[in-house]
Amino acid sequence: MNAEKRRRIFAKLAEANPDPKTELEYGNPFQLVIAVLLSAQTTDKAVNVATRRFFPTAKTPADLVALGEVNLMEHIKTIGLFRNKAKNAIATARQLIDLHNGEVPHNRAALEALPGVGRKTANVVLNEAFGEHTFAVDTHVFRVANRMKLAPGKNVEEVETKLMKFTPPDFLRSAHHWLILHGRYTCVARTPKCGACVVFDDCEFAGRHKISLDSINNLVVPAKARTQ
Ligand code: SF4
Repeated sequence: MNAEKRRRIFAKLAEANPDPKTELEYGNPFQLVIAVLLSAQTTDKAVNVATRRFFPTAKTPADLVALGEVNLMEHIKTIGLFRNKAKNAIATARQLIDLHNGEVPHNRAALEALPGVGRKTANVVLNEAFGEHTFAVDTHVFRVANRMKLAPGKNVEEVETKLMKFTPPDFLRSAHHWLILHGRYTCVARTPKCGACVVFDDCEFAGRHKISLDSINNLVVPAKARTQ
């Protein structure tokens, strides 16, 4: 895909959604870390339902440690892998207290050293909480980048590297949000909604197929069918 197409794609996504945000609910960087940690292999909606049960009283690492692993498990048992996630969340809270004064560090290595926090989570936190230009490549971003040939790659590292290299700098701050939301609601896994896609003209997916609502509405309905 050439640079002009990439620019047009991001310009159209930006026009459709000028101020994209994560759909995870959080009140501060610490809660963002916990919400992203809980979101692995789970929807943001399910995470929000769970975090609404304890975020009002767990605003700091010390609050979460005081809540304890057993109580946290009870709050998050509706999401996948909850036992392991509860363990990591408490361990992360302890590490933030022990090594970072209870604050979320603005530092990739320190973030990735937190239990249950990998490169993707660190990228989300660096972007969302600290305004850095990072790309969190989740399943949606990986699929969309490959499908429309925006940044094809065999693994998430390759896709992240290409997205960082080829995304026009003025779109980098919000680019990962646009691609996540595009993959979640339009370029969905099974049957992408190409007919409603704002980047249809520049997408290089060979199987894209435009069935617009207009064309459906304009279908000539046989007279017999109209009278039934
Ligand atoms: S045209 Fe279809 S395949 Fe291409 S980005 Fe849009 S929804 Fe995805």
